[in-house]
Amino acid sequence: MDSRKNRMILYNAMIVTMDAESRVYENGAVVIESDIIIAIGQSDVILRQFSGSHHLLDLRGHVLLPGLVNTHVHTSQQLGRGIADDVDLMTWLHRRIWPYESNMTENDSYVSTLLCGIELIRSGVTCFGEAGGQHVSSMARAVELLGLRACLTQSIMDSGEGLPASWSAQTTDQLIQSQKELYEKHHDTAEGRIKIWLGIRQIMNSTDHLLIETRNLAKELKTGIHMHIAEIQFENQVVVDTRKVNHGTVTFLEKIDFLQSNLLAAHSVWVNDDEIGYLSRAGVKVSHCPASAMRMLGFAPVRKMIQAGVCVSLGTDGAPSNNRMSMVDEMYLASLINKGCEAFATGTTDPTALPAELVLKMATIDGAKTLLWDNEIGSLEVGKKADIVIINPCSWTMIPIHDSISSLVYSMRTENIVSVICNGKWIMKDKNILNVDEGEVISQAKQASKELLERAGISIPKRMNII
Ligand SMILES: [Zn+2]
Repeated sequence: MDSRKNRMILYNAMIVTMDAESRVYENGAVVIESDIIIAIGQSDVILRQFSGSHHLLDLRGHVLLPGLVNTHVHTSQQLGRGIADDVDLMTWLHRRIWPYESNMTENDSYVSTLLCGIELIRSGVTCFGEAGGQHVSSMARAVELLGLRACLTQSIMDSGEGLPASWSAQTTDQLIQSQKELYEKHHDTAEGRIKIWLGIRQIMNSTDHLLIETRNLAKELKTGIHMHIAEIQFENQVVVDTRKVNHGTVTFLEKIDFLQSNLLAAHSVWVNDDEIGYLSRAGVKVSHCPASAMRMLGFAPVRKMIQAGVCVSLGTDGAPSNNRMSMVDEMYLASLINKGCEAFATGTTDPTALPAELVLKMATIDGAKTLLWDNEIGSLEVGKKADIVIINPCSWTMIPIHDSISSLVYSMRTENIVSVICNGKWIMKDKNILNVDEGEVISQAKQASKELLERAGISIPKRMNII
């Protein structure tokens, strides 16, 4: 077979590779064969080297980035957007989120993941880390259809006050077994786009037995663990009181040898200097979710963690914690919040905190490292998978451009993303989502969300004088 028929050349574009040398081609070309990047370089050189009947696409005026990696998102919570705005944390969890999640059906999870996936693709995401939901098989079905790449995780809790009855009925061993089965069924499926990780929702809903068994199983399966860690001060206080350590969750996890390089710690807002050292030494990866942290948790010491050598990436968290599942917005917020945070912590402003190139790294290659997938994705390099975002900066949002790298972080909006390729296939082209009928998903989501809230007995109080 003539392999040239499977080749596509994107040329005349600015290519921000995010490789180890931070190479940016002002007029670059990338050659894709099947799902792999087989060449990248200056357009004229590549076009001379690959003459013949390839599929050619002239992208003059466009920018190419590696597919963005969202390392913490709750796809199941998309139907719950707006169910818990401006409420305190306990109301958020016990009266809105748990009733919502515990009443979800397989189909709700499927529709929710489709809706979330559409928003992720529109914001340039090709790969995400699921934070943990109830129906992993439905998520897998939706991810396969959307054409995305994902590390999927079941939400796992085996203890804690006030858990819905259907959840507390399962024993620790059953929860471990169910994840083993999901791994056997879905890991490395959808042309290798789906991986199965293990989940721990958070320490206040976990026994020590669950933590140890999860650590051991992850080692045996050679997969990752996704866990919310040190989200709020109350969590640390509960750990001090019940687990007899002098600080919070990270200190306890260090003590039981749970901190490993395959652990993804979501948020990690309330960590002290010693704990940052533990995370760094163990190679734990942190997912920083700027919008969600501002709304519910507090300032994470992101700059300190990065300076200590911790790999920190970006996540959106779920729709009831953030409302916007846009990595473009998170990049913008990450930089601004951490500049402000620096001023708050030290009394001196520092606009150099989290500069644009670092934020781009967090959203791409460091996201890939966080999901243990950097051998295949996260940068545009020969031999890596063709996961590519195509940006048209020529609109009121970004013009004029004097510094193209900072423009991508400070000026770009989701609307500037025009096309997305994942695993060598177009999943959005010229702003059209290709693999699902977007209008149909929106209408199904409206219906499913209404029925789910009724079933869960969740009613959202009216605000202002709505007549
Ligand atoms: Zn979360």
